[in-house]
Amino acid sequence: MHRRNLGILVLLATLSLAGVVLTQVIWLNRAKQYEQEKVALQEQQQRQLDKQFSDRVTIALTDVTERILSITKDPSDLFDAVKQERPNYYAVTINDTIHPYLLEALLKQEFKRRNINEDFEYGIYDCFTDSIVYGNYVSLHDSITADTSKHTKLLKLNKDGHYFGVYFPRRTSSIWKPKSGGTITWIYPAVVSFIVFAFFAYSMWVIFRQKRLGEMKNDFIGNMTHELKTPISTIALSSEVLSDPDIAKEPDRLHNYARIIRSENERLRQQVERVLQLAKLDRGGLKLNMEPVDMHEVIMEVAQSFEVLFDERSGHCSLDLKASNAVVDGDRMHLSNALFNLVDNAIKYSSGPPQVRISTSNDHRKLYIGVADRGIGIRKEDVRNIFERFFRVHTGNVHDVKGFGLGLHYVAETMRSHGGKVTVKSTWGDGSTFTLELPLGKAIAKT
Ligand code: ADP
Repeated sequence: MHRRNLGILVLLATLSLAGVVLTQVIWLNRAKQYEQEKVALQEQQQRQLDKQFSDRVTIALTDVTERILSITKDPSDLFDAVKQERPNYYAVTINDTIHPYLLEALLKQEFKRRNINEDFEYGIYDCFTDSIVYGNYVSLHDSITADTSKHTKLLKLNKDGHYFGVYFPRRTSSIWKPKSGGTITWIYPAVVSFIVFAFFAYSMWVIFRQKRLGEMKNDFIGNMTHELKTPISTIALSSEVLSDPDIAKEPDRLHNYARIIRSENERLRQQVERVLQLAKLDRGGLKLNMEPVDMHEVIMEVAQSFEVLFDERSGHCSLDLKASNAVVDGDRMHLSNALFNLVDNAIKYSSGPPQVRISTSNDHRKLYIGVADRGIGIRKEDVRNIFERFFRVHTGNVHDVKGFGLGLHYVAETMRSHGGKVTVKSTWGDGSTFTLELPLGKAIAKT
């Protein structure tokens, strides 16, 4: 993807994400404001209703008291007789004996007249003995009068003289509580925002990964074309020379050109082999021909195949094969290729004469093969990428080494398919050590 297109895509995605979040915040705030206004209004209405109710009850009870006193005593004692003790409990002081049936009849009458359609309990108290003398529950709906023993909920108040109390059991609390839906209101948009954000982050990750892979693939094609072009043109030149009839007169030259063609052909074969390895990996992993493989033998073979190269560059390869058991179950060809790639890199990425040390050790489960060099080393930020397909360190002018960025990927895949792994320790400027870990072969590990 073009860099500018990617920039536009990221910008648009960020803007739309910010838009979604902002809209949600605005709507949430509005919803909260609306909810608060609704609660305040409902509280106010409830308070008004409560006040109306208590006014009506107070007036009704005053009327009841007045009527009782008018029968027995002077009604001028009425001042401040009715007191609301709780939102649902009223106490009425009458310094006289109250007849329960008269009281109940008057209460019913007055409540009906004042449109107070609520069940109530009343109790008459004798303040000298401080005990209830009579109590009853009055249901206005079914007009069934309960037994006097059901007055247990009546409150007892210490007061001088006689008094009676009226309690409205259905009016539990006058404080209106809003339903607790607030948390749910914001959890839903928060979850949606989170999902959108996760989707956005994941898409960006995929796009950037694809972009990087695309760039690496382009590098790979460039490298490969370059690597193939050189042997092809050398072979073309050599075969042109060989087609000259006079060449037969110079057998040494003829021999030399034939050798060049053979070695360039071998180079071509190796390059093609690498690309084929990649194609195999791409098609779903390596197909392994499993057999017991003595890795000490493999190491010695690989080291031998590099002898000429080490000599050419005045380098040295030392072997330190200490493992008491070096037999693994695996595919000899792939294991040999993997080791070959590591030694090849150790030579390629050494600026002076290559100094390589191959060592082995084992515990009761695994074989460890170390390939250490004193080469250019790898920067910390690159170490985590070197096993990726097509990855090559951008070294600028530090070294000009040809490669496809496939060797270490192949090593990692080979180890993975053998149930092992490859790790690396490297210091920039001071060399690297790659370690292969392979499970020991089962047949021999038991002995
Ligand atoms: P290639 O060698 O074809 O580029 P590899 O997959 O073998 O691909 O290696 C990936 C990168 O890791 C290389 O480009 C190189 O920068 C770095 N690398 C690999 N082995 C070594 C080593 N022994 N020392 C320093 N750098 C290394």
